[in-house]
Amino acid sequence: MFDVQINKLTKKFEDNVAVNGIDFKINSGEFFSILGPSGCGKTTTLRMIAGFVMPTAGEIFIGNNDITFQAPEKRNIGFVFQNYAIFPHMNVFENISFGLKMRNIDQKQINEKVKIALEQVNLIGYETRYQRELSGGEQQRVALARVLVTEPQILLLDEPLSALDKKLREEMKIWIKELQKKLKITTVYVTHDQSEALTMSDRIAIMNKGNISQIGTPDDIYEKPQNTFVADFIGTSNFINLKLINSSSGKSKVSFSDIEFEIDGDFNDNFKCILRPEHLFINPTNKSELVSVNARIKIISYQGSLIKYIVEVNEQTLTAEFSNSMNLNRLKEGDNVTVGFNPNSLVIIKD
Ligand code: ATP
Repeated sequence: MFDVQINKLTKKFEDNVAVNGIDFKINSGEFFSILGPSGCGKTTTLRMIAGFVMPTAGEIFIGNNDITFQAPEKRNIGFVFQNYAIFPHMNVFENISFGLKMRNIDQKQINEKVKIALEQVNLIGYETRYQRELSGGEQQRVALARVLVTEPQILLLDEPLSALDKKLREEMKIWIKELQKKLKITTVYVTHDQSEALTMSDRIAIMNKGNISQIGTPDDIYEKPQNTFVADFIGTSNFINLKLINSSSGKSKVSFSDIEFEIDGDFNDNFKCILRPEHLFINPTNKSELVSVNARIKIISYQGSLIKYIVEVNEQTLTAEFSNSMNLNRLKEGDNVTVGFNPNSLVIIKD
């Protein structure tokens, strides 16, 4: 059952095509993220779903209802803004109850609903505090409660964590995901932060220049990028220069640094090949299954729980990444090593 359906949605600002005829469907209770670089059209898409921006063409359905040109207040949607925008002259209770008062709901019901919303965001006891007496994370939780209290069918979040510091962002992203799962509320989350999207989402739409480059689960997007943009934008990708020797009947013979091996698929010269850094091994022990070549360690970079090795193989620079707990400490920059990868770990992209 789809809660949101977007058909050929387009927005032009004069000559600038901000959103270029995109399509997607969001399942009921799904956490769906729109991820992409600045200016790719994410916020415009979200604002069209909310009704703050009118589309140039296309359709938006919520359930079976065509809401493309419906007024925002009729859509049963909750929108949490980037800068959380809670009213400074109202305390927490007044902030959360504001939307209900506008709807002329009686005080007893308001008290009950606000209590539920405060419980949902763990802010019982904070009712009389003002914005200046709340941390950034608490303000963001008030902003969420203010939206949840109206019991929206769809929750829209526009970069809601971008004003928080890194540690709080890490905590909040787990917290929002848990809350969303508990409430089973269909959620559209806009972000340019890939770690937020990968951690929180059931599915992600990657946007680039007004178009959708790929839609998939976090796993799909990371393990099976369908084009160069996604491979480059998500995580680190080694682009491996393979030489095509021949290709027929669903198998291709290729070479890397003069080592020949076979990969699945028929290709002409128009293909690119990527390898994620965790699939490039240094001084591997099980060489027989791997394509192994000589390399030199150029840079070793400590990243806390991970260590990154930048290695040179012939003319190519490749990145390998290991958990800090793996005992590779004896390696130094400048060391000659063997690097290897399993051909099955390569992702072939035909752009
Ligand atoms: P960011 O992460 O920086 O917020 P975004 O992916 O959300 O970026 P949008 O805000 O949707 O991108 O903008 C998409 C394009 O549309 C940009 O080129 C932007 O300049 C343009 N745009 C957005 N809103 C308007 C507007 N009201 N008038 C004119 N152009 C606009």
